[in-house]
Amino acid sequence: FSPDTSPLLQGLNNEQAAAVTLPQAHALILAGAGSGKTRVLTTRIAWLMQTGQVSPGGILAVTFTNKAAKEMLTRLSAMLPVSVRGMWVGTFHGLCNRFLRAHWKLANLPQSFQILDTQDQLSAIKRLSKQFNVDDERFPPKETMRFIAGCKEDGLRPKDVVARDPDDRKRVELYELYEAQCQREGVVDFGELMLRSYELLRDNDPLREHYRRRFQHILVDEFQDTNKLQYAWLKQLAGPVDQGGGAILAVGDDDQSIYAFRGARVGNMADFVREYNVMHQIKLEQNYRSFSNILDSANHLISHNKGRLGKNLHTTQGAGEPVRVYESPTDFAEAQWMVEEMKQLLRDGQNGDGTNGVQHRSEIAVLYRSNAQSRVIETALFNAAMPYRVYGGLRFFERAEIKHALAYLRLLENPRDDTSFMRVVNFPPRGIGARSIEQLQDASRAMGCAMSDAVTAVAGKAGANLSAFVAKIDVLREQTQGQNLRQIIELLLDHSGLITHYQAEREGQDRIENLQELVNAAESFVTQEGFGRDAVALPIDEHGQPLATDATAMPSEGELTRQAAPQTMINADTGETLSPLAAFLTHAALESGDNQAQAGQDAIQLMTVHASKGLEFDCVFITGMEEGLFPHENSMNDFDGLEEERRLMYVAITRARKRLYLSHSQTRMLHGQTRYNLKSRFFEELPEHTMKWITPARSAFADAMPSRRDAWQNNNGWQNNAWGGGAATAVAPKPVPQRAAPVTSGPNAWVRSGVQVFHTKFGEGAVISIEGVGDDARAQVNFPRHGTKWLALSVAKLTQV
Ligand code: ATP
Ligand code: MG
Repeated sequence: FSPDTSPLLQGLNNEQAAAVTLPQAHALILAGAGSGKTRVLTTRIAWLMQTGQVSPGGILAVTFTNKAAKEMLTRLSAMLPVSVRGMWVGTFHGLCNRFLRAHWKLANLPQSFQILDTQDQLSAIKRLSKQFNVDDERFPPKETMRFIAGCKEDGLRPKDVVARDPDDRKRVELYELYEAQCQREGVVDFGELMLRSYELLRDNDPLREHYRRRFQHILVDEFQDTNKLQYAWLKQLAGPVDQGGGAILAVGDDDQSIYAFRGARVGNMADFVREYNVMHQIKLEQNYRSFSNILDSANHLISHNKGRLGKNLHTTQGAGEPVRVYESPTDFAEAQWMVEEMKQLLRDGQNGDGTNGVQHRSEIAVLYRSNAQSRVIETALFNAAMPYRVYGGLRFFERAEIKHALAYLRLLENPRDDTSFMRVVNFPPRGIGARSIEQLQDASRAMGCAMSDAVTAVAGKAGANLSAFVAKIDVLREQTQGQNLRQIIELLLDHSGLITHYQAEREGQDRIENLQELVNAAESFVTQEGFGRDAVALPIDEHGQPLATDATAMPSEGELTRQAAPQTMINADTGETLSPLAAFLTHAALESGDNQAQAGQDAIQLMTVHASKGLEFDCVFITGMEEGLFPHENSMNDFDGLEEERRLMYVAITRARKRLYLSHSQTRMLHGQTRYNLKSRFFEELPEHTMKWITPARSAFADAMPSRRDAWQNNNGWQNNAWGGGAATAVAPKPVPQRAAPVTSGPNAWVRSGVQVFHTKFGEGAVISIEGVGDDARAQVNFPRHGTKWLALSVAKLTQV
């Protein structure tokens, strides 16, 4: 068999081919982003099998995410006729889980052991603290949890920890108690998965020998982000250098090491080379991913870091498009601009313009430094009816903490909302167990009333706890009377105990930021500017019908006018009232509703920079390029922190194939307040010749926005400034709708008031009036079967009857 004839090697450059066809020996590929490291790793597996050097069972490959593992298996199945099922391909945790499932008895675990997530882990520690009367102030459960996780990452059991003082001794004691409790209950946390399999390999000679013989090839992607225990685990599998176990192929890029905060040790690379006497060190220097403007930017930026291992990266692809930089007045305008730009890219792509356009939404990624930034972007995408998917995290209104907060708000609005009641009656935990809730459910069923009305029917301590919860909500409702939406939410976050609860959690900071972001969401919903902002682009459903922020209250029949009290909206015809809170809750429900990308639907990709590692897209937007945000404020003041931020930025830039946009905003609503941010220092570290600055004044959005906002304010009957937060602003005179204004363009330009139309969902109907022009034109149509609807003419599919 000659390597030259293998189709697998075709198209690889010499260094890549050399790496793929290495003999069975330890090797390190150290190379920059987009140089084909992952491709080499995958191709090598296929090559080893195709040339009969190894069977699927002899392969162990570690990837960084489950997504990457899946992708690798898919590619391998495409390259090879064999089944890839026997191959061990996965993340460290995934592989350890598989290992422990196979050897549960030896690992001293029940066969069906359960895995604790962070939340479970924290509540386990809390239970323990209570049981042993531990002082929570002195030993906060979240700290204990971090302590335990840290010990496990370093491979230390309680007996191995050297306690320096009495407090330390107490923590070790808690660690011991926690271990015993987990063992009793047959559960393991993430750290335990790793540590337990490491120990089993270390202590069980026959088992270790078995696996050492079995895995002849161990391939590790993103090696720069392995921690101490993971490296030790790999060493157990490979064996000492002189005993001829499996060969390790480590693949990495020191410039992309971005998990130091979770114990990753970039030093593992140097240790590996030294300890295994690695002879084969391969550098890949050609980047196949990006045009040179993008690559130059990345290279230039990362050259500002000290102590790098040093790599060169070039491309033969030509300069390509300049890196576009956009400065926006507000975060909302930034998101709007982005959406307009995306629309243009997709239009060009559909017209067959492969250079300027993008064919699929999934080829566009929006990257941000912290999760809380996604909300504004989500809103803009939602309003533009553009499907999107959030990776490595949930969409804003689907996040657990947001749902909890919304459930409290719903209870304020409606004490009989049992779903919301169930969600938060014991969250944060207040000693109401499953048994009590069952009793309550029985009582409410028997009495035929809401759960909150049935609490008095539950006897004993359980009943007292339940009544206390209902009383608490009642008090909150009382307290929020007359307050604006922002105040209501702030009060609720304080008094529900949600913030305190998340403060005690290992990864709670992110959740707290999201909760504060909810205050922003409310603020921009109610203030004139904000409500207007959210309303700039009219939300439209799949039938082309505009969704108001509250679809049910869409003023289809009567105009809504402002009442003396600034808090309430009244429908002049029906007398129906709607508080800002109720309107906001409907808005939230809609945003988490079905206008989102379905599984398999082509969607814009949203994710944090951390989650984007290893991926690539035709077009990448890096948003929020501001001091304090990126680089993040927690890392700005220390040297190592700043270097890690710069590596993150390097990862972000190198995700782009054809087009890269960087944007920053002069003002931003974050964590409940408006911040005036300077643009990121990273702009100074990018080469001028690759960049093109686009100014907001020239953008299509800036020109289009005023007319859109006017159209909204004039046409839909809601007077934005009548809402709570904007009580001080003047109220515009009641607008006079322009009847039968001409629609200038678009598929439905023929629609006039008085004509009969046919709509795919609503059937036949009569056009009552037309409002707005161009993209904003809407028709009010009376459908005998479905009532009166407002339809966006640029979207609705109408035919003339
Ligand atoms: P990262 O550091 O971001 O993980 P990487 O080094 O793993 O990047 P890959 O993802 O393997 O790089 O490759 C980047 C892109 O270049 C992929 O689309 C890959 O298919 C392509 N590529 C790699 N090598 C070649 C080649 N020899 N010819 C053409 N395309 C290539
Ligand atoms: Mg890769």
